[in-house]
Amino acid sequence: MAQSPYLSRVQSEMRPGVITQDGFLGNDHRELQEILIEDDATVKRLNTTHAAIAARMHELMEAGAEGLGLPIDVPPHFEIQVDSVRGKLPCPFMGGTIVQKLNTTVFNTRLGREITYTDLNIHMIEEHGFYEGRGSLFRMPPEELAEILEMDLREPPPEDEEGATPRLCVRKDDHDF
Ligand SMILES: [Zn+2]
Repeated sequence: MAQSPYLSRVQSEMRPGVITQDGFLGNDHRELQEILIEDDATVKRLNTTHAAIAARMHELMEAGAEGLGLPIDVPPHFEIQVDSVRGKLPCPFMGGTIVQKLNTTVFNTRLGREITYTDLNIHMIEEHGFYEGRGSLFRMPPEELAEILEMDLREPPPEDEEGATPRLCVRKDDHDF
């Protein structure tokens, strides 16, 4: 299936220097559609949803924000630091969403591994099932997110009301994904 003109436009918004200096795709030269489909399949295989992953990221960001810029301990064994950077960023999916620049670093002391994500990452995962391209600074493979953020994957996730992923922050008939 050819990529829709909408996704091609989104993909050009993701190039370096358009919204962010480094862009969102790293050295991933696949079509955006292919990136979305592959990560969507991974999330399904993990027995979770984009919404559940984003909710966990949001939950830990809120817990870490209590540290007011300093790292704080969050049970059971996380060290979380939330840094506010001046400025706002528009979502490259062009739905009109603008988010604060906020970086959350979650260090999992049990695993000795950490991950840093922005509020835009949370939005793009929740609304678009987009985890950035390979080699991108903020690329977050869904399996790593689930592991480091210790998501409970034993329970089946609630049914996605739309049934179709990835969801997009524009009207459904604006594209043919
Ligand atoms: Zn969006």
